[in-house]
Amino acid sequence: NDTLLEVRNLQKFFNVGGNTLKAVNNISFDIKRGETLGVVGESGCGKSTAGRTILRLYEPTGGEVLFEGKNILELNPQEMKAMRRNMQMIFQDPYASLNPRMTVGDIIGEALDIHGLASGQKRKERIQELLSLVSLNPEHINRFPHEFSGGQRQRIGIARALAVEPKFIVCDEPISALDVSVQAQVVNLLEQLQEKMGLTYMFIAHDLSMVKYISDRVAVMYLGKIVEIAKSEDLYDKPLHPYTQALLSAIPIPDPEIERKRERIVLQGDVPSPLNPPSGCHFRTRCPKAMPECAVHEPVWKEIEPGHFSACHLYN
Ligand code: SF4
Ligand code: MG
Repeated sequence: NDTLLEVRNLQKFFNVGGNTLKAVNNISFDIKRGETLGVVGESGCGKSTAGRTILRLYEPTGGEVLFEGKNILELNPQEMKAMRRNMQMIFQDPYASLNPRMTVGDIIGEALDIHGLASGQKRKERIQELLSLVSLNPEHINRFPHEFSGGQRQRIGIARALAVEPKFIVCDEPISALDVSVQAQVVNLLEQLQEKMGLTYMFIAHDLSMVKYISDRVAVMYLGKIVEIAKSEDLYDKPLHPYTQALLSAIPIPDPEIERKRERIVLQGDVPSPLNPPSGCHFRTRCPKAMPECAVHEPVWKEIEPGHFSACHLYN
């Protein structure tokens, strides 16, 4: 079976001052073994919450997450602990996500300790092996996070995630906080590791240009929902949803000849509050193609072309 992860009608709601915030509102998708699914959307669209809920770092409000066919939401704490070895996370901020008082060796070793994977000399050798794997100097095992650059710290975060030999990693904006010059290095490292270790990624980013090269498929989120999902080439060449079209039109094209002729879609207004999303299609208040029915009915999620899904009344 080449499907690693199945997400079915996943919901994560929060209570905010007596109101319901539907941060993740009924999303469904699969991720195949060895695949990278990019997940893109503006801040507050629910992409990080989705990643955390899939890993059960947040308890879902509803839906299912099947990992190798097993619903992880039904696992008891003991079973969930064992399952955690399969599913790890790399965090956005390599400054905030590493304990400044712990050495690099202990940060990485902690993951080994939790799962009882190595002790003594073996533990040290394994930590050094992990440091080499992410192209850090294994001699630096006793250094502290502040002695490393941002890009190096993100490599430490990657080594920590890899310590338990996971199959699936949620990469939550792993390059957004890094200098542009080191972003490509971290992406290349993630790709090399994927190849070497057969990893499957959910790669979260706030804009489409960041996930273009690393993703096999891309999902676009808006106000807690996935509005479109497709193979990367299909999504970039032939976006179906007006929101995806607008996001793509905002990415500059290096060729000035094409850039000049290109039509830029400027979205009106801000993203509405997720506490009070518009009726019908949540995107309608900013959609250049909105029709009267868009305010009345929520568009149905459907496969419009093979493997290319969207929810928009233009395709009904
Ligand atoms: Fe725009 Fe209507 Fe499609 Fe929503 S359903 S994206 S408002 S055309
Ligand atoms: Mg985020």
